[in-house]
Amino acid sequence: LPARWLSASGAAPTGPSGVTGLRALFPVLSQHIQGHPLAYLDNAATTQMPQPVLDALQHFERHDRANIHRGVHALSQRATDAYDAARAELKRFVGAGAEHELVFTSGTTESLNLVAHGLSAHAGGGKPLQPGDEIIVSGLEHHANLLPWQRTARESGAVLRILLPDAEGHLHAEDLARLLSPRTRVFAVTACANATGERPPVAELLALARQAGALTVLDAAQVAAHAVPDISALPCDFLVFSGHKMYGPMGTGALVGTRNALEQLAPLRLGGDMVEWVSFTDASFAALPARLEAGTPNVGGAIGMAAAAKFIDAVGRSAIDQHLHALRHQAVQGLAALPGLRVLSPDTQDTAIVSFVTEGVHPHDIGTLLDGQGVAVRTGHHCAQPLLEHLGCGPTTRASFALYNTPEEVERLVAGVAKALELLR
Ligand code: PLP
Repeated sequence: LPARWLSASGAAPTGPSGVTGLRALFPVLSQHIQGHPLAYLDNAATTQMPQPVLDALQHFERHDRANIHRGVHALSQRATDAYDAARAELKRFVGAGAEHELVFTSGTTESLNLVAHGLSAHAGGGKPLQPGDEIIVSGLEHHANLLPWQRTARESGAVLRILLPDAEGHLHAEDLARLLSPRTRVFAVTACANATGERPPVAELLALARQAGALTVLDAAQVAAHAVPDISALPCDFLVFSGHKMYGPMGTGALVGTRNALEQLAPLRLGGDMVEWVSFTDASFAALPARLEAGTPNVGGAIGMAAAAKFIDAVGRSAIDQHLHALRHQAVQGLAALPGLRVLSPDTQDTAIVSFVTEGVHPHDIGTLLDGQGVAVRTGHHCAQPLLEHLGCGPTTRASFALYNTPEEVERLVAGVAKALELLR
Protein backbone atom coordinates (compact mmCIF):
# COMPACT_ATOMS: atom_id res chain seq x y z
CA LEU A 1 0.00 0.00 0.00
CA PRO A 2 1.32 3.49 -0.75
CA ALA A 3 3.15 4.68 2.37
CA ARG A 4 1.74 8.20 2.12
CA TRP A 5 -1.80 6.80 2.37
CA LEU A 6 -0.96 4.64 5.32
CA SER A 7 0.63 7.54 7.13
CA ALA A 8 -2.29 9.81 6.17
CA SER A 9 -4.70 7.23 7.55
CA GLY A 10 -2.64 7.04 10.73
CA ALA A 11 -3.33 3.34 10.92
CA ALA A 12 -1.47 0.16 10.35
CA PRO A 13 -3.13 -2.17 7.88
CA THR A 14 -5.46 -4.59 9.61
CA GLY A 15 -7.48 -7.60 8.59
CA PRO A 16 -6.33 -10.51 6.45
CA SER A 17 -5.52 -8.37 3.41
CA GLY A 18 -4.52 -5.17 5.16
CA VAL A 19 -6.99 -2.99 3.31
CA THR A 20 -9.09 -1.90 6.28
CA GLY A 21 -6.08 0.15 7.41
CA LEU A 22 -7.16 2.60 4.73
CA ARG A 23 -10.47 3.26 6.45
CA ALA A 24 -9.30 6.56 7.90
CA LEU A 25 -8.88 7.90 4.36
CA PHE A 26 -12.69 8.02 4.12
CA PRO A 27 -13.78 11.05 6.18
CA VAL A 28 -17.49 10.25 6.06
CA LEU A 29 -16.96 7.03 7.99
CA SER A 30 -15.77 8.68 11.18
CA GLN A 31 -19.26 9.78 12.27
CA HIS A 32 -21.69 8.33 14.78
CA ILE A 33 -25.31 7.49 13.99
CA GLN A 34 -27.71 7.46 16.92
CA GLY A 35 -24.76 7.19 19.28
CA HIS A 36 -23.06 4.29 17.44
CA PRO A 37 -20.06 4.37 15.11
CA LEU A 38 -21.33 4.25 11.53
CA ALA A 39 -21.12 0.78 9.95
CA TYR A 40 -21.77 1.66 6.32
CA LEU A 41 -22.92 -1.54 4.59
CA ASP A 42 -24.80 -0.02 1.64
CA ASN A 43 -21.92 -0.04 -0.81
CA ALA A 44 -23.79 -1.75 -3.64
CA ALA A 45 -25.91 1.40 -3.78
CA THR A 46 -23.06 3.92 -3.36
CA THR A 47 -19.53 3.64 -1.98
CA GLN A 48 -17.78 6.43 -0.07
CA MET A 49 -14.92 8.49 -1.47
CA PRO A 50 -11.36 8.35 -0.11
CA GLN A 51 -9.18 11.41 0.41
CA PRO A 52 -7.20 11.01 -2.86
CA VAL A 53 -10.47 11.19 -4.82
CA LEU A 54 -11.73 14.15 -2.76
CA ASP A 55 -8.37 15.84 -3.37
CA ALA A 56 -8.56 15.30 -7.14
CA LEU A 57 -12.07 16.74 -7.23
CA GLN A 58 -11.10 19.71 -5.13
CA HIS A 59 -7.96 20.40 -7.14
CA PHE A 60 -9.98 20.62 -10.35
CA GLU A 61 -12.67 22.86 -8.84
CA ARG A 62 -10.12 25.18 -7.17
CA HIS A 63 -7.50 25.45 -9.93
CA ASP A 64 -8.57 24.18 -13.34
CA ARG A 65 -12.35 24.60 -13.55
CA ALA A 66 -13.31 25.73 -17.05
CA ASN A 67 -15.22 24.36 -20.01
CA ILE A 68 -13.30 21.94 -22.19
CA HIS A 69 -12.50 21.79 -25.92
CA ARG A 70 -13.82 25.28 -26.64
CA GLY A 71 -11.24 27.61 -25.16
CA VAL A 72 -7.74 28.69 -26.02
CA HIS A 73 -7.07 29.97 -22.53
CA ALA A 74 -4.92 28.17 -19.98
CA LEU A 75 -7.69 26.93 -17.70
CA SER A 76 -9.69 25.48 -20.57
CA GLN A 77 -6.61 23.72 -21.85
CA ARG A 78 -5.77 22.34 -18.42
CA ALA A 79 -9.36 21.14 -17.97
CA THR A 80 -9.31 19.53 -21.43
CA ASP A 81 -6.00 17.79 -20.68
CA ALA A 82 -7.27 16.54 -17.33
CA TYR A 83 -10.51 15.26 -18.93
CA ASP A 84 -8.58 13.46 -21.68
CA ALA A 85 -6.21 11.98 -19.10
CA ALA A 86 -9.20 10.74 -17.09
CA ARG A 87 -10.53 8.98 -20.17
CA ALA A 88 -7.15 7.37 -20.81
CA GLU A 89 -6.89 6.24 -17.17
CA LEU A 90 -10.33 4.62 -17.19
CA LYS A 91 -9.64 2.92 -20.51
CA ARG A 92 -6.53 1.44 -18.93
CA PHE A 93 -8.62 0.40 -15.90
CA VAL A 94 -10.90 -1.80 -18.04
CA GLY A 95 -8.21 -3.10 -20.37
CA ALA A 96 -9.45 -1.15 -23.41
CA GLY A 97 -7.23 -1.44 -26.50
CA ALA A 98 -6.86 0.63 -29.65
CA GLU A 99 -10.08 -0.90 -30.97
CA HIS A 100 -12.05 0.47 -27.99
CA GLU A 101 -13.36 3.87 -26.96
CA LEU A 102 -14.78 5.17 -23.70
CA VAL A 103 -17.73 7.54 -23.48
CA PHE A 104 -18.36 9.39 -20.21
CA THR A 105 -21.94 9.23 -18.94
CA SER A 106 -23.79 10.07 -15.73
CA GLY A 107 -23.77 6.42 -14.68
CA THR A 108 -24.67 2.88 -15.66
CA THR A 109 -28.29 3.90 -16.23
CA GLU A 110 -27.37 6.52 -18.81
CA SER A 111 -24.85 4.17 -20.42
CA LEU A 112 -27.50 1.47 -20.86
CA ASN A 113 -30.09 3.95 -22.14
CA LEU A 114 -27.52 5.19 -24.62
CA VAL A 115 -26.97 1.68 -25.97
CA ALA A 116 -30.65 0.66 -26.03
CA HIS A 117 -31.76 3.92 -27.62
CA GLY A 118 -28.74 4.04 -29.90
CA LEU A 119 -29.46 0.65 -31.44
CA SER A 120 -33.11 1.38 -32.12
CA ALA A 121 -32.98 4.96 -33.42
CA HIS A 122 -31.99 6.06 -36.89
CA ALA A 123 -28.87 8.24 -37.29
CA GLY A 124 -26.54 5.61 -35.90
CA GLY A 125 -23.98 3.99 -38.17
CA GLY A 126 -25.75 0.62 -38.01
CA LYS A 127 -29.08 -0.83 -39.07
CA PRO A 128 -31.63 0.09 -36.35
CA LEU A 129 -33.48 -2.73 -34.64
CA GLN A 130 -36.43 -3.89 -36.75
CA PRO A 131 -39.70 -5.72 -36.17
CA GLY A 132 -38.87 -9.40 -35.69
CA ASP A 133 -35.33 -8.76 -34.41
CA GLU A 134 -34.72 -10.25 -30.97
CA ILE A 135 -33.19 -8.84 -27.82
CA ILE A 136 -32.24 -11.18 -24.97
CA VAL A 137 -31.86 -9.75 -21.47
CA SER A 138 -31.01 -11.84 -18.44
CA GLY A 139 -33.56 -12.16 -15.64
CA LEU A 140 -30.98 -11.03 -13.06
CA GLU A 141 -30.93 -7.43 -14.18
CA HIS A 142 -31.34 -4.14 -12.38
CA HIS A 143 -34.25 -2.18 -13.90
CA ALA A 144 -31.60 -0.04 -15.65
CA ASN A 145 -30.76 -3.03 -17.85
CA LEU A 146 -34.38 -4.02 -18.45
CA LEU A 147 -36.58 -0.96 -18.88
CA PRO A 148 -34.55 0.63 -21.70
CA TRP A 149 -34.78 -2.68 -23.59
CA GLN A 150 -38.53 -2.91 -22.94
CA ARG A 151 -38.96 0.53 -24.53
CA THR A 152 -36.61 -0.24 -27.39
CA ALA A 153 -38.54 -3.43 -28.13
CA ARG A 154 -41.88 -1.59 -28.03
CA GLU A 155 -40.65 1.21 -30.28
CA SER A 156 -38.76 -0.90 -32.80
CA GLY A 157 -41.07 -3.91 -32.94
CA ALA A 158 -38.23 -6.17 -31.80
CA VAL A 159 -39.06 -9.10 -29.53
CA LEU A 160 -37.74 -9.02 -25.95
CA ARG A 161 -36.81 -12.41 -24.52
CA ILE A 162 -35.73 -13.02 -20.94
CA LEU A 163 -33.03 -15.52 -19.98
CA LEU A 164 -34.61 -16.66 -16.74
CA PRO A 165 -32.54 -17.92 -13.81
CA ASP A 166 -33.39 -21.21 -12.10
CA ALA A 167 -35.07 -21.32 -8.68
CA GLU A 168 -31.70 -20.70 -6.99
CA GLY A 169 -31.03 -17.61 -9.11
CA HIS A 170 -28.39 -19.15 -11.41
CA LEU A 171 -28.22 -18.54 -15.18
CA HIS A 172 -27.37 -21.44 -17.49
CA ALA A 173 -25.62 -21.39 -20.85
CA GLU A 174 -27.92 -24.15 -22.20
CA ASP A 175 -30.93 -21.91 -21.61
CA LEU A 176 -29.27 -19.09 -23.52
CA ALA A 177 -28.37 -21.47 -26.35
CA ARG A 178 -32.07 -22.34 -26.63
CA LEU A 179 -33.11 -18.67 -26.79
CA LEU A 180 -30.53 -17.51 -29.34
CA SER A 181 -31.60 -17.39 -32.98
CA PRO A 182 -30.36 -15.86 -36.23
CA ARG A 183 -32.60 -12.87 -35.36
CA THR A 184 -30.88 -12.18 -32.01
CA ARG A 185 -29.31 -8.72 -32.29
CA VAL A 186 -28.49 -8.01 -28.65
CA PHE A 187 -27.70 -9.94 -25.46
CA ALA A 188 -27.44 -7.98 -22.20
CA VAL A 189 -26.34 -9.42 -18.86
CA THR A 190 -24.95 -8.29 -15.54
CA ALA A 191 -21.57 -9.32 -14.15
CA CYS A 192 -23.19 -9.39 -10.69
CA ALA A 193 -26.87 -9.19 -9.75
CA ASN A 194 -27.27 -6.28 -7.37
CA ALA A 195 -30.31 -7.84 -5.64
CA THR A 196 -28.75 -11.23 -4.87
CA GLY A 197 -24.98 -11.00 -5.39
CA GLU A 198 -25.17 -13.76 -8.01
CA ARG A 199 -22.21 -13.86 -10.44
CA PRO A 200 -23.38 -15.47 -13.69
CA PRO A 201 -20.88 -17.24 -16.00
CA VAL A 202 -20.55 -14.16 -18.20
CA ALA A 203 -17.57 -15.26 -20.31
CA GLU A 204 -19.50 -18.33 -21.45
CA LEU A 205 -22.77 -16.46 -21.98
CA LEU A 206 -21.19 -13.59 -23.89
CA ALA A 207 -19.25 -16.01 -26.09
CA LEU A 208 -22.42 -17.90 -27.02
CA ALA A 209 -24.24 -14.68 -27.87
CA ARG A 210 -21.29 -13.35 -29.89
CA GLN A 211 -21.11 -16.66 -31.85
CA ALA A 212 -24.78 -16.23 -32.70
CA GLY A 213 -24.00 -12.79 -34.14
CA ALA A 214 -25.50 -10.67 -31.34
CA LEU A 215 -24.01 -7.52 -29.87
CA THR A 216 -23.11 -8.16 -26.23
CA VAL A 217 -23.69 -5.80 -23.31
CA LEU A 218 -22.10 -6.37 -19.89
CA ASP A 219 -23.28 -4.41 -16.83
CA ALA A 220 -20.23 -4.15 -14.56
CA ALA A 221 -21.79 -1.76 -12.02
CA GLN A 222 -21.43 -4.21 -9.12
CA VAL A 223 -17.90 -5.38 -9.85
CA ALA A 224 -16.15 -2.16 -10.86
CA ALA A 225 -14.91 -1.54 -7.31
CA HIS A 226 -12.98 -4.80 -7.04
CA ALA A 227 -13.15 -7.05 -10.10
CA VAL A 228 -13.77 -4.92 -13.15
CA PRO A 229 -13.79 -7.09 -16.28
CA ASP A 230 -10.99 -6.73 -18.82
CA ILE A 231 -12.91 -5.80 -21.95
CA SER A 232 -10.11 -7.04 -24.21
CA ALA A 233 -10.32 -10.51 -22.68
CA LEU A 234 -14.09 -10.91 -23.12
CA PRO A 235 -16.39 -11.17 -26.13
CA CYS A 236 -18.00 -7.96 -24.99
CA ASP A 237 -19.12 -5.11 -27.27
CA PHE A 238 -20.37 -2.74 -24.57
CA LEU A 239 -19.22 -2.55 -20.94
CA VAL A 240 -20.95 -0.14 -18.54
CA PHE A 241 -20.29 0.96 -14.97
CA SER A 242 -20.79 3.83 -12.49
CA GLY A 243 -18.21 5.98 -10.70
CA HIS A 244 -20.12 6.23 -7.42
CA LYS A 245 -20.04 2.45 -6.89
CA MET A 246 -16.22 2.38 -7.18
CA TYR A 247 -15.22 5.07 -4.64
CA GLY A 248 -15.79 7.86 -7.18
CA PRO A 249 -18.19 10.81 -7.43
CA MET A 250 -21.96 10.52 -7.87
CA GLY A 251 -23.39 11.25 -11.31
CA THR A 252 -20.44 9.69 -13.14
CA GLY A 253 -20.14 6.61 -15.29
CA ALA A 254 -18.81 5.16 -18.47
CA LEU A 255 -19.75 3.24 -21.57
CA VAL A 256 -16.79 1.41 -23.06
CA GLY A 257 -17.15 -0.42 -26.33
CA THR A 258 -15.49 -1.52 -29.48
CA ARG A 259 -15.36 1.37 -31.93
CA ASN A 260 -17.38 -0.75 -34.38
CA ALA A 261 -20.17 -1.25 -31.87
CA LEU A 262 -20.17 2.35 -30.59
CA GLU A 263 -20.33 3.62 -34.15
CA GLN A 264 -23.61 1.79 -34.62
CA LEU A 265 -25.25 3.92 -31.89
CA ALA A 266 -27.39 6.93 -32.64
CA PRO A 267 -26.62 9.67 -30.08
CA LEU A 268 -29.05 9.95 -27.17
CA ARG A 269 -28.46 13.69 -26.85
CA LEU A 270 -27.72 16.27 -29.50
CA GLY A 271 -26.07 19.65 -28.97
CA GLY A 272 -22.72 21.29 -28.48
CA ASP A 273 -19.37 19.60 -28.83
CA MET A 274 -20.65 16.58 -30.77
CA VAL A 275 -20.86 18.06 -34.27
CA GLU A 276 -18.49 18.51 -37.15
CA TRP A 277 -20.57 20.92 -39.14
CA VAL A 278 -24.00 22.56 -38.63
CA SER A 279 -26.43 24.49 -40.83
CA PHE A 280 -29.92 25.74 -39.90
CA THR A 281 -31.43 22.58 -41.32
CA ASP A 282 -28.83 19.87 -40.89
CA ALA A 283 -25.71 18.75 -39.06
CA SER A 284 -23.04 16.12 -39.30
CA PHE A 285 -21.75 14.49 -36.15
CA ALA A 286 -18.19 14.42 -34.83
CA ALA A 287 -16.15 11.24 -34.45
CA LEU A 288 -16.18 9.14 -31.28
CA PRO A 289 -16.17 9.75 -28.37
CA ALA A 290 -17.47 13.34 -28.83
CA ARG A 291 -20.39 12.10 -30.98
CA LEU A 292 -21.92 10.47 -27.89
CA GLU A 293 -21.06 13.21 -25.36
CA ALA A 294 -23.19 16.25 -26.27
CA GLY A 295 -23.08 19.25 -23.94
CA THR A 296 -20.78 20.23 -21.13
CA PRO A 297 -19.63 17.05 -19.42
CA ASN A 298 -19.10 16.46 -15.72
CA VAL A 299 -15.38 17.22 -16.01
CA GLY A 300 -14.65 17.18 -12.29
CA GLY A 301 -16.63 13.95 -12.00
CA ALA A 302 -14.61 12.28 -14.74
CA ILE A 303 -11.38 13.35 -13.03
CA GLY A 304 -12.66 12.02 -9.70
CA MET A 305 -13.72 8.73 -11.29
CA ALA A 306 -10.26 8.28 -12.80
CA ALA A 307 -8.70 9.07 -9.40
CA ALA A 308 -10.92 6.32 -7.94
CA ALA A 309 -9.67 3.83 -10.55
CA LYS A 310 -6.08 4.75 -9.65
CA PHE A 311 -6.89 4.35 -5.96
CA ILE A 312 -8.36 0.87 -6.52
CA ASP A 313 -5.30 -0.23 -8.43
CA ALA A 314 -2.89 1.27 -5.92
CA VAL A 315 -4.59 -0.68 -3.14
CA GLY A 316 -4.76 -3.75 -5.39
CA ARG A 317 -7.80 -5.41 -6.92
CA SER A 318 -7.00 -8.84 -5.56
CA ALA A 319 -6.35 -7.52 -2.03
CA ILE A 320 -9.74 -5.76 -2.12
CA ASP A 321 -11.42 -8.82 -3.61
CA GLN A 322 -9.97 -11.14 -0.98
CA HIS A 323 -11.09 -8.80 1.81
CA LEU A 324 -14.65 -8.52 0.44
CA HIS A 325 -15.05 -12.25 0.03
CA ALA A 326 -13.90 -12.86 3.57
CA LEU A 327 -16.49 -10.37 4.86
CA ARG A 328 -19.23 -11.87 2.69
CA HIS A 329 -18.34 -15.38 3.84
CA GLN A 330 -18.43 -14.28 7.48
CA ALA A 331 -21.81 -12.57 6.95
CA VAL A 332 -23.34 -15.60 5.20
CA GLN A 333 -22.15 -17.95 7.98
CA GLY A 334 -23.55 -15.70 10.71
CA LEU A 335 -26.85 -14.83 9.05
CA ALA A 336 -27.70 -18.28 7.69
CA ALA A 337 -27.50 -19.65 11.25
CA LEU A 338 -30.38 -17.40 12.37
CA PRO A 339 -33.82 -19.04 12.48
CA GLY A 340 -36.21 -18.37 9.57
CA LEU A 341 -33.60 -16.48 7.55
CA ARG A 342 -32.77 -17.38 3.94
CA VAL A 343 -29.66 -16.01 2.26
CA LEU A 344 -29.96 -15.62 -1.52
CA SER A 345 -27.17 -17.09 -3.66
CA PRO A 346 -25.47 -18.39 -0.48
CA ASP A 347 -22.67 -20.22 -2.30
CA THR A 348 -21.76 -17.49 -4.75
CA GLN A 349 -18.08 -16.65 -4.66
CA ASP A 350 -16.44 -13.36 -5.56
CA THR A 351 -19.27 -11.15 -4.48
CA ALA A 352 -19.53 -8.30 -1.99
CA ILE A 353 -23.30 -8.54 -1.58
CA VAL A 354 -25.36 -10.56 0.90
CA SER A 355 -29.10 -10.37 0.45
CA PHE A 356 -31.58 -12.20 2.66
CA VAL A 357 -35.24 -12.69 3.46
CA THR A 358 -36.68 -13.18 6.91
CA GLU A 359 -39.79 -15.23 7.56
CA GLY A 360 -42.60 -13.11 9.01
CA VAL A 361 -40.50 -9.94 9.35
CA HIS A 362 -40.47 -7.12 6.82
CA PRO A 363 -37.02 -5.96 5.63
CA HIS A 364 -37.93 -2.31 6.23
CA ASP A 365 -38.40 -3.06 9.92
CA ILE A 366 -35.03 -4.80 10.09
CA GLY A 367 -33.36 -1.92 8.24
CA THR A 368 -34.89 0.63 10.60
CA LEU A 369 -33.78 -1.25 13.71
CA LEU A 370 -30.27 -1.69 12.26
CA ASP A 371 -30.10 2.04 11.55
CA GLY A 372 -30.87 2.61 15.21
CA GLN A 373 -27.62 0.76 15.93
CA GLY A 374 -25.60 2.68 13.35
CA VAL A 375 -25.67 -0.12 10.77
CA ALA A 376 -26.66 1.10 7.29
CA VAL A 377 -28.17 -1.52 4.96
CA ARG A 378 -30.62 -1.33 2.07
CA THR A 379 -34.05 -2.92 2.03
CA GLY A 380 -36.67 -3.45 -0.66
CA HIS A 381 -36.61 -4.71 -4.24
CA HIS A 382 -33.26 -3.08 -5.10
CA CYS A 383 -34.62 -2.05 -8.52
CA ALA A 384 -34.87 -5.73 -9.47
CA GLN A 385 -38.51 -6.49 -8.77
CA PRO A 386 -39.09 -9.08 -11.53
CA LEU A 387 -36.10 -11.12 -10.34
CA LEU A 388 -37.16 -11.16 -6.68
CA GLU A 389 -40.70 -12.09 -7.67
CA HIS A 390 -39.39 -14.84 -9.94
CA LEU A 391 -37.38 -16.20 -6.99
CA GLY A 392 -40.55 -16.10 -4.91
CA CYS A 393 -39.07 -13.94 -2.18
CA GLY A 394 -40.21 -10.31 -2.61
CA PRO A 395 -38.25 -7.55 -0.87
CA THR A 396 -34.97 -8.39 0.89
CA THR A 397 -32.48 -6.89 3.31
CA ARG A 398 -29.12 -6.32 1.61
CA ALA A 399 -25.73 -5.68 3.17
CA SER A 400 -22.88 -4.92 0.79
CA PHE A 401 -19.22 -4.43 1.58
CA ALA A 402 -16.36 -2.16 0.58
CA LEU A 403 -12.66 -2.19 1.36
CA TYR A 404 -13.15 -0.10 4.52
CA ASN A 405 -15.55 -2.53 6.18
CA THR A 406 -14.32 -4.69 9.03
CA PRO A 407 -15.12 -8.11 10.53
CA GLU A 408 -16.38 -6.24 13.63
CA GLU A 409 -18.95 -4.47 11.46
CA VAL A 410 -20.12 -7.81 10.10
CA GLU A 411 -20.50 -9.02 13.70
CA ARG A 412 -22.61 -5.96 14.45
CA LEU A 413 -24.75 -6.69 11.38
CA VAL A 414 -25.38 -10.30 12.41
CA ALA A 415 -26.05 -9.39 16.06
CA GLY A 416 -28.32 -6.52 14.95
CA VAL A 417 -30.37 -8.78 12.66
CA ALA A 418 -30.64 -11.41 15.41
CA LYS A 419 -31.89 -8.79 17.85
CA ALA A 420 -34.33 -7.36 15.29
CA LEU A 421 -35.78 -10.81 14.62
CA GLU A 422 -36.25 -11.41 18.33
CA LEU A 423 -38.03 -8.09 18.79
CA LEU A 424 -40.19 -8.33 15.68
CA ARG A 425 -41.36 -11.94 15.89
N1 PLP B 1 -26.88 -2.01 -12.83
C1 PLP B 1 -26.62 -2.57 -11.64
C2 PLP B 1 -26.22 -4.00 -11.56
C3 PLP B 1 -26.74 -1.80 -10.48
O1 PLP B 1 -26.48 -2.35 -9.30
C4 PLP B 1 -27.13 -0.43 -10.59
C5 PLP B 1 -27.31 0.37 -9.39
O2 PLP B 1 -27.54 -0.11 -8.31
C6 PLP B 1 -27.37 0.09 -11.86
C7 PLP B 1 -27.24 -0.73 -12.95
C8 PLP B 1 -27.73 1.53 -12.03
O3 PLP B 1 -26.61 2.31 -11.71
P1 PLP B 1 -26.70 3.89 -11.57
O4 PLP B 1 -27.82 4.16 -10.62
O5 PLP B 1 -25.36 4.27 -11.04
O6 PLP B 1 -26.95 4.43 -12.92
